[in-house]
Amino acid sequence: MSAVEVTGLAPGGAGSVTCAVDGCDRPAKAKALCEMHYRRQRRTGSPTGKRRPGPKPDPFRVFMRQTFGEYSDRTFDRLWFGWRMLRDLRGPDDLEQALAATTRPNGSINVNWLERVGMGALVQYLIEHEDDEVAS
Ligand SMILES: [Zn+2]
Repeated sequence: MSAVEVTGLAPGGAGSVTCAVDGCDRPAKAKALCEMHYRRQRRTGSPTGKRRPGPKPDPFRVFMRQTFGEYSDRTFDRLWFGWRMLRDLRGPDDLEQALAATTRPNGSINVNWLERVGMGALVQYLIEHEDDEVAS
């Protein structure tokens, strides 16, 4: 008898079996799992596997994260912010120009600077579109 079966049996006997997941006291509905864990098992292949909340990650961001794998999450977030602002608000030419300007001779990117340039693009965009909401 496995540990799961032992712990899964509640004192009440048949009909009161609890979920096989450690720490889950909900009654088992199917395959020794409660409804939530059974659904999670079907959806993700693991009863405890959690899907990341929110929309699917941008594949280009995933690519960039791999490219800059040595960056910390925090540094990468700042790089990505600047990159995205320039790409989305200014377009690829401005992005390329900014990247050239913020890349040091040794090839590394001055993330502080790129973040600031991205912030500048955002502020300028907001100023330029200040009246949009009022007009519509
Ligand atoms: Zn459960």
